Amino acid sequence: MSNPFSYQHQPINKIQRFEDFYRLFQDSPGVYKYQDQIKDIYTKSTNTLVFLYEDLVASDPDIAEMFIKDPETLLEDAIEALKNLLKFQGSKLEHNSYHVQVKTSIKNIKLISGFKDLNSKKISQLVFCRGIVSGISQVKPVLLMGSFECNLCGAQFEVFQLTSKIRWPKFCTNKRCKAKTQSDFRLLENESQYIDCQEIYLEEILNDLHINTSGKMLKARLNGSLVNSVNLGDRIQITGILKTEDKDLTKRDQSLKFNYCIEVNAIHLFEKNETILSKEDLKKIEDLSQEVDMFEKVADLIFHTFPYNSNLKKVCTLSLFGSNEGNIHVLLIGNEGVGKSTMLRTLSEVFPWSFYTFGKDKESSLIPTISRNDIDGQLYIWSGALNYGKNGHTLIDNLDEIGNNEKRKLQQSIDEGKLLIKKGSFQSHQVINTSIIAAIQPPNGIYNRYKSFRDNFKKDLSLLEKFDIIAFFDNTSDKEKHLKEMDTILDVYQNDLLSNELLVKYFEYAQSNFKPKFRKDAKGKLKEILIRIKQDCSTEDNKITKRHLINVKKLCEAYAKMHLKHEILIKDVESIELLFKEYLENLGFDNTVGKIDMDRIFGDQSRTNLNKLEILMNRLKGIFEVNDWKALERLSVVKSLELDKNLDKKFIESALEELVKEGILYHYTPSSDKIQFRDPNYPKSDNQRKIFELK
Ligand SMILES: [Zn+2]
Repeated sequence: MSNPFSYQHQPINKIQRFEDFYRLFQDSPGVYKYQDQIKDIYTKSTNTLVFLYEDLVASDPDIAEMFIKDPETLLEDAIEALKNLLKFQGSKLEHNSYHVQVKTSIKNIKLISGFKDLNSKKISQLVFCRGIVSGISQVKPVLLMGSFECNLCGAQFEVFQLTSKIRWPKFCTNKRCKAKTQSDFRLLENESQYIDCQEIYLEEILNDLHINTSGKMLKARLNGSLVNSVNLGDRIQITGILKTEDKDLTKRDQSLKFNYCIEVNAIHLFEKNETILSKEDLKKIEDLSQEVDMFEKVADLIFHTFPYNSNLKKVCTLSLFGSNEGNIHVLLIGNEGVGKSTMLRTLSEVFPWSFYTFGKDKESSLIPTISRNDIDGQLYIWSGALNYGKNGHTLIDNLDEIGNNEKRKLQQSIDEGKLLIKKGSFQSHQVINTSIIAAIQPPNGIYNRYKSFRDNFKKDLSLLEKFDIIAFFDNTSDKEKHLKEMDTILDVYQNDLLSNELLVKYFEYAQSNFKPKFRKDAKGKLKEILIRIKQDCSTEDNKITKRHLINVKKLCEAYAKMHLKHEILIKDVESIELLFKEYLENLGFDNTVGKIDMDRIFGDQSRTNLNKLEILMNRLKGIFEVNDWKALERLSVVKSLELDKNLDKKFIESALEELVKEGILYHYTPSSDKIQFRDPNYPKSDNQRKIFELK
């Protein structure tokens, strides 16, 4: 069938020059990579050739320059050249359409346009951009080949479309027919060909793949085989033609969105560990992995601005490496103002495949949602923080302030690894693959160590129990001293050994190349440890135990990965045992009994501490009662309490501190060291009442 729009003006030489480029380009001497690709297309009967723009520049700079300025025409030429060479091979051109995709190496940063560089001067030009997929529309059919009938003579013919408005024929194929205006033709909708089309929104990513936080979004249109080729949270590099949107632009909510749209020609999906390590980098990484105490060193390097010396940093570090099965979810518990946000932000600044978010009073944007886009009126599914952290980490601050609906969905994501999002007829199964590091503050701002984990976090328990490991902020250490130590470490390491950039490479290299297996004796050791922990725990209520024991295995894997090992040895298991014990201790290891009291971790309070607290409260009330409930010097109160053989000074001090925090005791004046019962008879809050009930 003839086509009134086919190739009337193209000079032959451009097609010829593309043919020359395909035939003659040598990647290295004797390697004709496009000839090889065309042979492949011929033998495998596919229909798409992909070339690198820089190859065209090297081979034919004039054509390459023209390609940028007039990509629409040049792409047609490039496709014709492909067809010609296929015909030359003896191919019959079985496909309706052939495609040429233009990509550029991810190293060719100069070619990449930032979102702010996309302006009216670049309209209709070829552009290369990087972004993270933040919104995806439903798939809809778009006219590809319009079938038209002439109203005057009845001739039928086709016109190639693929534009946002219908391209009407400008004359009839019947040469004697005078038809020439739109009203002379009729579109035969049932006989026309359609192609799937989908629109996406991108948020900009920088050269190091960190998300640009300006919040500007760019629209891109996908056709044919590119439809459904990307998912929310994918980091991609696209090639395409910059167009303006021909939609109604008078509507509101456009401040953050451009009125440009990129007609996408090719997509490159970024993957971790894509950059090839130089020999020097690899040597530095291997050297570090061999160092004694490298675990502490790596943890300190990441969190060098973070003045706490605790297992917290180590646990987060292990989560960054991940286990063989994947994600390790970490919950950080800390009182108000201990620097949880600083820690999470540090991670998001160092690691490009991570996303920081925080809970707000209302619904935050943790999970993907479906809503109508005001600009084009279409339904889109939009990324939530869990999508932005895809293949990396989602760092959730103020987990306690996240809305209940989102908490439920978060729990489901951790549990099942996927979410069903729907609105009307639009539904989407979203695979959620991200490691979560979340920080939470106890309900009253202060974690009460005399109460169980369960009692501290009654409301969100079902969600919190989904986390693999829980770490506490240890804010008792000496900030100043620790920062000084950090400086020394940095002097030694950061200057010559590891930059953040190399640290990121280290993580990606370890993650992608090592899937360590337990050596037989290490497996035995692991079993032994698990049995021992189980025995040491009170057995009445250990439904959580099993899940948490599995995590010992995950942590061992992450630990071996970190050391660039393919095999997990006994000493690796032992190192993790130490870390895990600290974790259990933080949650409820009871020093006085020498047993890990699982009741305290996820059940009732430690019986030993409860008994001690009860004794202390009785004595305390006695002391204040005989003094007519007046304020007393704290030191003399401590001394009186110390007379009881059941109470040691350390316990008394911390209990008093806790009672002040709880608001049961208060300082007589802010400056004095006198304490007093706030109200001996009528404790106000639940917490207070609870402690008073002990009497
Ligand atoms: Zn006609």
